[in-house]
Amino acid sequence: MKAALLTAPNKMEVVRVPFPECEPGGIVVRVQACAICGSDVRTYLQGGETNVPREWLAGAGLESGRLMGHEFSGVIESVGERCTEFARGERVAVSPSLPCGRCHSCLAGRENICEDFRGLGQHLPGAYAEFVAVPEAALRAGNVHRLPDSLSPDEGALIDPLASVLNGQEKADIRPGESVLVIGAGPIGCMHAALARLSGAVPVILAQRSAPRLELARRLECADAYIDTGREDLCSAVLGLTGGRGCDVVIVACPSRQAQEQSLALVGRGGRIVMFGGLPRSDALITVNGNDIHYREITIHGAFAIRPSHFATSLKLIASGRVPARKYVTNAFPLDGIGEAFSAEVLKRSLKVVIHPS
Ligand SMILES: [Zn+2]
Ligand SMILES: [Zn+2]
Repeated sequence: MKAALLTAPNKMEVVRVPFPECEPGGIVVRVQACAICGSDVRTYLQGGETNVPREWLAGAGLESGRLMGHEFSGVIESVGERCTEFARGERVAVSPSLPCGRCHSCLAGRENICEDFRGLGQHLPGAYAEFVAVPEAALRAGNVHRLPDSLSPDEGALIDPLASVLNGQEKADIRPGESVLVIGAGPIGCMHAALARLSGAVPVILAQRSAPRLELARRLECADAYIDTGREDLCSAVLGLTGGRGCDVVIVACPSRQAQEQSLALVGRGGRIVMFGGLPRSDALITVNGNDIHYREITIHGAFAIRPSHFATSLKLIASGRVPARKYVTNAFPLDGIGEAFSAEVLKRSLKVVIHPS
């Protein structure tokens, strides 16, 4: 089969590798759509560890290779002899996170921060390929979901990112009438704004530095106010929109240290901050004033990955049309075009970019 491997920072190579092995209790999925995640872009820029079998590399004449891609949907190509729950030809979306189910976090119901976490497209080969093997552990954990006929492959690929946004929203605990600022109007930031609105937040403010992206967000109509931080001062704009108080909730949905630091000045007394985006490894130290947190009783939450229940809820929100996932996809590329799909030029002028390997 064809697979796109990250062989060095900024270098994606489409090569032929063996058909993935199907575990006795697992399935193999023919990938129809796999969306590019912000975390994939970060890995693409800094390089990542090999996660494919050595034989695959030897066959392709490569030293190292990482097969990413975890936001995907497709059609079941084969089922292991012990798998009775699913059949060949069924359309599915797969939650890529595999919690161990036994560690302290898992037993506490916080599988997203499992101590022995494994993920498709991270530790295991992912879905920037014609086929992806879904292990038995994923089926046992309830990670494989049938796609309703009404949902396209692209919409199926957006269930995982929306699920991760649900995890962040849970931390934000937005109540009706609260003001919410989302920094970063990428697909994740727009989803945060859309869900904040569903929770009754007023106003929902979306801030973004690059004008083309902000324009795409505007077209989604997911917020009440849009701030172009390339032209406007974020702080004065937010204070202006909130009667000088700052927002009840600030969600940082971009990989920016400066945005995380600035969030303290944008949140009001007793407010909550959700740090949603991961930072580049080389630029992850932030400076905050401890007294800002102490005297104004600010709560800072991290938010990472998803629990199995988030995936199920996300599927429901997309299938019901509450979140119009289709509108978030602005660009699609075949597997051979994955290099172009990851280029800065494309990413800057898009919301969600999807790869169609088959
Ligand atoms: Zn993702
Ligand atoms: Zn665990």
